[in-house]
Amino acid sequence: MGDGILVVICDGLGDRPVKALKGATPLESAVRPNMNHLAGRGVCGIMDIIAPGVRPGSDTAHLALLGLDPYKVYTGRGPFEAMGVGMEVRPGDVAFRCNFSTVNDKMEVVDRRAGRIKDRTDELARSLDNWEFEGVKVYFKEGTEHRGVLLLRAAGLSPLVSDPDPHEEGVRPHDCVPKTPEAALTARVVNAFVKRSHQILNEHPVNKERIKAGQKPANIILPRGAGLMPHLPTIKERFGMTSAAIAGVALVKGICRVAGMELIDVKGATGGLDTDMNAKAEAALKALECHDMVLVNIKAADLAGHDGDFRLKANVAKRIDKAMGALRKGLPSDVHLALTADHSTPCCAKDHTGDPVPLAIYGPNVRSDNVKSFGERACALGGLGRLRGTDLLPVLLDLAGRTQKFGA
Ligand code: ZN
Ligand code: ZN
Repeated sequence: MGDGILVVICDGLGDRPVKALKGATPLESAVRPNMNHLAGRGVCGIMDIIAPGVRPGSDTAHLALLGLDPYKVYTGRGPFEAMGVGMEVRPGDVAFRCNFSTVNDKMEVVDRRAGRIKDRTDELARSLDNWEFEGVKVYFKEGTEHRGVLLLRAAGLSPLVSDPDPHEEGVRPHDCVPKTPEAALTARVVNAFVKRSHQILNEHPVNKERIKAGQKPANIILPRGAGLMPHLPTIKERFGMTSAAIAGVALVKGICRVAGMELIDVKGATGGLDTDMNAKAEAALKALECHDMVLVNIKAADLAGHDGDFRLKANVAKRIDKAMGALRKGLPSDVHLALTADHSTPCCAKDHTGDPVPLAIYGPNVRSDNVKSFGERACALGGLGRLRGTDLLPVLLDLAGRTQKFGA
């Protein structure tokens, strides 16, 4: 037994100083009494989510924050891309990132992105989804723009195969070749899928209309970057805790699901800028009544960072602060709350960077420090010092009285 744990991950909240904000970061410039209250009464620090200077993806970042070493469990992007488009991924599945591409009559790739196709890829994808070949279940789903994901499910599949995607234009797609004898079946299925994708897509009404409109047909799927979904030990198996996650984004949901967390859908929690943060806070408090640990991901700050919009990002921080107010007021006295981010998405970089993120832990057992506000620089002076992402869960488990002694 032990106390409860609540982890609030503000996706991409970390940033760098902005001149137009008088040298403050968007977070530092935001009115944030509730975050400051948590930092002031809590213990603070900064975290290198993977390692200093390493730019995390949201997938590797969340693995680390759930106490899993991404260098050990992240074998290829395929399975995580599949989660990102909302596919269910199981241990043993092999998944590939794919492009909708264009080949000519001689089967030469003339455009790896099919004229940067944007529309109706869902219709094309449906014609390829849910097939079976030599006992292997084959699933395909569209991603954003010209991207898609191929997912294979059967016992004994291997990701050790070469890419059919030639990674250049003017040549024919490559045969998928097994790199080990165990990968022979995987390669046969992939080759059959690519061939079939051309047969079906070349005759597809969407492509006939594209040709009529002078656009390139998306008449073949080119897979690359095979990855195997490893068996991840669940949070229950590792720590004996029940757990739940609240997130709007498919990728984060997928990772929480494979970590064995119950997914809680919240009305209005979209994963977009319009997400209902208060609804998420209420749902988190409710989930704590019947789960030992609850994780909440709020995506909006990352989106503002990718857009390079520091005023929007500061405004998002202000909205997150309001939700933290609701959380703080309703928080049971035996719960430790960690407020942090999964990486920095500085507005000047418009992408994730390796800058460490602020962290505040609030709860009955913390040794509060002299930090009075929640920000990238203020938290750096806190009592937790500088941690790695994989340290977060052990620290919380210890505060919650859920760890075993090491030694006598
Ligand atoms: Zn992220
Ligand atoms: Zn991002």
